[in-house]
Amino acid sequence: MSTPPSPERKLAPGKEFEGSYLHAVIARKSNSCYKYDENVTKLTCGQGGSRAILGHFVCKTCNPSHTWHSGRICTELFLASNDRYRAILHAQQCRRCATYVEPKVDKENYGRKVVSTLDLWTGRRERLESTWDFKKTDPHDHVRCHGCQIGVCNRRSEG
Ligand SMILES: [Zn+2]
Ligand SMILES: [Zn+2]
Repeated sequence: MSTPPSPERKLAPGKEFEGSYLHAVIARKSNSCYKYDENVTKLTCGQGGSRAILGHFVCKTCNPSHTWHSGRICTELFLASNDRYRAILHAQQCRRCATYVEPKVDKENYGRKVVSTLDLWTGRRERLESTWDFKKTDPHDHVRCHGCQIGVCNRRSEG
């Protein structure tokens, strides 16, 4: 077995998660027009940005486990040539024990927002008035969001 070339951006273990496992959702929503490519980075992508996705977190370090919901799971999106894209999901820290917890995104919401963003970037659709469902959730906890900690979380979309 040969080692694949390491991507330019190494994900921070336990804090950043490759979105490849959610590709089936994107494939279904987009009639398979986008391909997942783990080697796309901020440097090699044509377009990039972050989106806020609905979902929840379960901290199993806490006993009993601690669950919280978020309307703003920071998800970075990169689009490269030939409809290749990559998504990186960011952890949030448990406010009880400070452990970084992997996000569990709402697949419907993830699929809709990611495909809608890729469609916009590739010119498959026009920019619409806000198509996002604007769910009022607790204020975003910037201190505990890994995306905010490294400065990639989208602060414009929701206040
Ligand atoms: Zn915890
Ligand atoms: Zn954030």
